[in-house]
Amino acid sequence: MDDGLRTSMPEEGIAEVTPMMAQYFRLRTRAGGALLFYRMGDFYELFFEDATKASAALDITLTKRGKHRGADIPMCGVPVHSCEAYLARLIRSGFSVAICEQIEDPSEAKKRGSKSVVKREIVRVVTPGTLTEDTLLAANENNFLGALAILAAGAEAALAVVDVSTGELRVVSTTPESFSSDFASTACAELVLADAMDAPDAWRQAVSFIEPAAKISWHQSSSFDSKGGERRLKAIFGVSAIDGIGAFTRADLAALGGLLSYVELTQAGRLPAICLPKRIARGELMVIDHATRASLELLRTQSGARDGTVLASVDRTVTGPGARLLAQRISAPLTEPEAINERLDLAAYFVADEWLRNGVRAALRACPDLTRSLTRLSLDRAGPRDLAAIGEGLACARKIAALLSAHSLPPNILSACAALEARERGGFSDLLQLLKEALVSNPGLLTRDGGFIAKGFDPGLDQSISLRDESRRVIAGLETQYRDETGIKTLRIKHNNVLGYFIETAPAAGDALMAPPMKTRFVHRQTLASAARFTTGDLADLDSSIARARDEALARELEIFARLADAVLGRKDDIAEAARALAELDVACSFATLAADDEYVRPHIDMSFSFAIKGGRHPVVEAALRRSGGPPFVPNDCLLVERDEPQLWLVTGPNMAGKSTFLRQNAVIAILAQAGGFVPARSAHIGVADRVFSRVGAADEIARGRSTFMVEMVETAAILNQATARSIVVLDEIGRGTSTFDGLSIAWAAVEHLHDRSRCRGLFATHYHELTALAERLPRFRNASMRVKEYKGGVVFLHEVAAGPADRSYGVAVARLAGLPATAVARANEILKLLEKDGRRTVTIEDLPLFSPKLSSQSALNPVTAALQDLDLDRLSPKEALDALYRLKSLTEPD
Ligand code: ATP
Repeated sequence: MDDGLRTSMPEEGIAEVTPMMAQYFRLRTRAGGALLFYRMGDFYELFFEDATKASAALDITLTKRGKHRGADIPMCGVPVHSCEAYLARLIRSGFSVAICEQIEDPSEAKKRGSKSVVKREIVRVVTPGTLTEDTLLAANENNFLGALAILAAGAEAALAVVDVSTGELRVVSTTPESFSSDFASTACAELVLADAMDAPDAWRQAVSFIEPAAKISWHQSSSFDSKGGERRLKAIFGVSAIDGIGAFTRADLAALGGLLSYVELTQAGRLPAICLPKRIARGELMVIDHATRASLELLRTQSGARDGTVLASVDRTVTGPGARLLAQRISAPLTEPEAINERLDLAAYFVADEWLRNGVRAALRACPDLTRSLTRLSLDRAGPRDLAAIGEGLACARKIAALLSAHSLPPNILSACAALEARERGGFSDLLQLLKEALVSNPGLLTRDGGFIAKGFDPGLDQSISLRDESRRVIAGLETQYRDETGIKTLRIKHNNVLGYFIETAPAAGDALMAPPMKTRFVHRQTLASAARFTTGDLADLDSSIARARDEALARELEIFARLADAVLGRKDDIAEAARALAELDVACSFATLAADDEYVRPHIDMSFSFAIKGGRHPVVEAALRRSGGPPFVPNDCLLVERDEPQLWLVTGPNMAGKSTFLRQNAVIAILAQAGGFVPARSAHIGVADRVFSRVGAADEIARGRSTFMVEMVETAAILNQATARSIVVLDEIGRGTSTFDGLSIAWAAVEHLHDRSRCRGLFATHYHELTALAERLPRFRNASMRVKEYKGGVVFLHEVAAGPADRSYGVAVARLAGLPATAVARANEILKLLEKDGRRTVTIEDLPLFSPKLSSQSALNPVTAALQDLDLDRLSPKEALDALYRLKSLTEPD
């Protein structure tokens, strides 16, 4: 764990430094472990260690400015107008950034004396888990921040998470054993821990795995206090008793308190519009631990990408909020058949009505991200475009509600429909009307640029604007008047930010204006190599009245913006609910589209122990095969239940035959089904699983000091300890990380344990052929194998699962396919034959033909024979054949 937000500044004797440095050091200390972006004019400057770190991370020049204690002060800076791109890179590199702004006009500071320093404050700390800007966030991904509170010496603990950009807030009780799954189910970008965390080793170990996927930050321990948390929640939600918002444990309140206090700290005292905290009960969600997510590549591939994941291959959503909801559901599937079926009903409705589905999806496509705009409005970080987004989003919601209302709807669509229009709370008509009348179409991004309020909305604003425009017209008229007066045809009236409006002539023509009689009327302002510049009393008056009108207009626009923002925030709960309904419809239509286009079906979900998949497919492998234009995916059945008794299947077969794919597709189907989704199969009947475990043997974590075998054993231990009769366990290549007999014995014992004690449903793949003998001893154990066909001395994979164990391993044949030199393949066959003849799995070195004098003399092939054996005649092109002949001939030549 790194030092997070606790990184410190060097000790400073403030008395020895200039007032500006004293201010810097004060703010630097306040920024804690975050880099300090210290505003100086148009730049954010970084100094000392911050500068060294940032310049390296951003690849920008490191300079120096002044000295401190005799040494140069390193410095680097980024321009304010393009700072978001730099911020994004720093956050991605794992830094947090404290933004320090000038909070007064430099002229104010000057009034206090020439040496006074402009007042500055940290207005926000940008951390990976507290982002709100569209430029820093992916539209289709949530960005969660978590806080873990550990109480009573580790006996009680809770994890609270919030997405600051959308306001979703939830809390779950957790334990060192379940933390991996609890944390992974919301994929937090950052985890906040109490800085004086006094947790037992089991807890330290439990949180140690989360880096580097998430950043760990430290926050004052006093915030992780249940009483303080309760007070904070009551204040935020305006209730006098905490029971009014839910039943929380002490640990829940401590975690929520720590979390919200950290959010407040990073947002410099402001809190986004936060929804009521949802408490997730134990058992409400399917437990999927970190290792299972990684092995199934649910939301991220092993290399961290979204492409190539289960999520990406089933995502047909058309809005950011829809994509985020889908990810949440796949990440945290349910365990209650009723709740799952409710989601499935909604999707099924859109499967049945293609016309409606297409209509809803078309309307959704035009729908902006209501939730994130709403959050920015509540944090005072919004621009005119966010207001417009609220208007457009609500208009889309109304359009969709109109489409749906033409149908006789099932109850859950009816309630979504009511939320779209806030029907029970007076609807959105007034707000929509207000936004429509107030805003121009396509308003700009920033309020400070003005020009976003429509003409006719506010008479005061119109007056300021017409004053400004009128003055501009008068100025245009002045130009003609001055040309006539002076006889200078090239005279122009121009504008820049320094001089305001001015008259410009060529330098020679300007001489006439500087001489009497013109001199009294035209006041000289500036002479450049290419131009002379003047003003007049009239022009100066007009200039200042334009500036006044412009400032007035902008101030007025800002006032109206604030009023509109208030009007929107006054309906924030209704808007958030409409946004949720839109996201839900998007997800339902996404599964319905999969059903229509990609042969996904509605799973049958109940409380039985069934796992009956007919014609199942792996969504990612299937999509990859389709993209590559190769042979189609071969669907396979998996029946892990007989007479309502859970079964264990052992799948054997050669490498590359499709064992891993088969194992994983079944785990993925269970997860998709319980997420409330349709599944890639011809039919699926699943009795809900409380946990799904998926492991692939042999993946080491050298960085964590664990060998391949140790990792595998830790993970196997977790499964054996936690799997219940409701669990589904998928173990690929169990026991591979150690020597033959050790691995075999452990695999054997693990399978027996799962069969006799856990009594779960399970799928194993192994290279230990001996394990197939378990079928004779264990009544609920079945052998299955991947079918292959031998062809011309090689193998062809059929990717079909058949009953019974594999007869041979075909390892050498696969090695040949992989391109091992023919001599090596021949040699491997030779050794294999010897081993098989002896019927032994272990041989001494002396037994191996490589060291046997008789065989090795045979093996000392002459170079021509060896080269001939290496030739694969079926694969040679005519040109390669000719080259090979030349090579062979050269081998026979004396040199
Ligand atoms: P190993 O033991 O080496 O890990 P394996 O038996 O687990 O191999 P997989 O990794 O599952 O084999 O599959 C190998 C390749 O075979 C996949 O990448 C895919 O291209 C193809 N494949 C697997 N299953 C199927 C299938 N059902 N239909 C078509 N192709 C498949």
